[in-house]
Amino acid sequence: MTEQFDLIVIGAGPAGYVAAIHAAQLGLKTACIDKTVGKDGKAAPGGTCLNVGCIPSKALLDSSKHYDHLQHTYADHGISADNVSMDVATMIARKDKIVKQLTGGISQLFKANKVTFFHGTGTLGADHCVSVTQISGDNIELQGKNILLASGSVAIEIPGIAFDDTHIIDNIGALNLDGVPERLGVIGAGVIGLELGSVWSRLGSKVTILEALPDFLGVADKDVAKLAAREFRKQKLDIQLNTLVKSASVAENQVVVTIEGKNGEQELTFDRLLVAVGRRTYTEGLLADDSEVKLTERGQIAVDENCLTSSAGVYAIGDAVRGPMLAHKASEEGVAVVNRLAGKHGHLDFNTIPWVIYTEPEIAWVGKTEQQLKEEGVEYKGGSFPFAANGRALAGGAPAGMVKLLADASTDELLGAHIVGANASELIAECVVTMEFHGSSEDLALIVHAHPTLSEAVHEAALHIHKHAIHRPN
Ligand code: FAD
Ligand code: AMP
Repeated sequence: MTEQFDLIVIGAGPAGYVAAIHAAQLGLKTACIDKTVGKDGKAAPGGTCLNVGCIPSKALLDSSKHYDHLQHTYADHGISADNVSMDVATMIARKDKIVKQLTGGISQLFKANKVTFFHGTGTLGADHCVSVTQISGDNIELQGKNILLASGSVAIEIPGIAFDDTHIIDNIGALNLDGVPERLGVIGAGVIGLELGSVWSRLGSKVTILEALPDFLGVADKDVAKLAAREFRKQKLDIQLNTLVKSASVAENQVVVTIEGKNGEQELTFDRLLVAVGRRTYTEGLLADDSEVKLTERGQIAVDENCLTSSAGVYAIGDAVRGPMLAHKASEEGVAVVNRLAGKHGHLDFNTIPWVIYTEPEIAWVGKTEQQLKEEGVEYKGGSFPFAANGRALAGGAPAGMVKLLADASTDELLGAHIVGANASELIAECVVTMEFHGSSEDLALIVHAHPTLSEAVHEAALHIHKHAIHRPN
């Protein structure tokens, strides 16, 4: 017999699992299907983010940061250690333990919230029918009043540079290397290339990042990108811009890469090559021919502003659709769809979605960059504050970076916040809240910030807009 649900969610990444739990909380009879098999052979809901993305990358960034600091900054504190070594297998095992704890936690949350979980591949057919090919081997049919597609994304492969999972690797490979490669090539100076490049660079790899575009981090505010590039170069991350990778071949345990750069065509040799040129929507096995769900030219699931697909009652969210490929965007999009299904208000403002890069220093921003405001002809005023003038940053040995705020020239509404520095990922939240409430830079300037904290740099940047900064010239 076909089991009936109010909502069937396909995919249990941050888009799908959050939507499923929220739907069940609102009283909808909800099923969630995910096919991921964890390293222990069991179901591992959580998608890319928990298994091979956000969380494992942050675990390795943290381990490698400790190793790097022990060698390069602890001496300033009077701490010294001889024979410092890194056991990569232990680092990876620690990461795997965190992943298992979190994916196991989602299974528990599904039970606690009465979400029915199916471990297998869900395929949407006609009339909201979903057939599930379970990992156990049993096939079952489900029917949903509504369907939510949250099938996520996978790494893009460059034509002619096929992943072999040993020498030419994607994020999954780079999170599971069994040793520190002597020379690591990274194609793409985006978020993933910078984060995973940083991990292995800190552990001793000579990392070369090859980026086709002429500008470093073109999506970020130009001042932030410039400052970050300077810090990364100090860390000996070799970032080569204007460098297009054309081909790669593997021979004798090495990868030879052909690049087209400033000096014409050239060959570079690496021990491992990480391809981090973006991600594409994953829809294999998701849609039967009669599902009526259409894809865009880029292969994303086509949706309107309410995440409705071309088939009535079928919605799609997260990396499977347009918009930034970020876990929190995916989750909040799911919550908005479920709220609307339950008769509540649901809306996601893309302009107030924060972006974070977890390098050292961290980079975080929300809203408009200065170059966007210029292009849009918006009159704005700016203020900034360097962490080098912030007591807590100095005490913590993290003087690099700054906070830059942009506000409307006439209304003073905060239009953008750009932070490069320690804990930027946490500091940005205050700016997101301000923007969500359409607050002004004066609002930020009037709020009491604890002393000594890094957040005082946000306060001072807001004061600087009004020429009232205390700890820097105005
Ligand atoms: P996914 O997380 O990809 O989940 C989709 C799930 O659906 C998967 O489990 C997949 O197996 C399953 N699935 C697909 N088709 C089917 C089917 N037919 N049947 C059953 N199951 C199916 N974002 C951040 O915000 N912060 C970060 O720090 C961050 N770091 C990242 C680091 C790396 C290395 C990578 C690769 C990504 C990172 N991201 C980060 C991006 C983030 O992981 C994604 O934006 C997020 O996971 C998207 O969520 P999703 O639920 O849409 O898709
Ligand atoms: P992101 O989309 O943020 O993950 O970043 C991916 C980066 O890879 C972009 O900045 C692209 O310009 C870059 N890129 C894509 N293809 C190539 C290539 N063949 N050679 C070098 N860089 C590339």
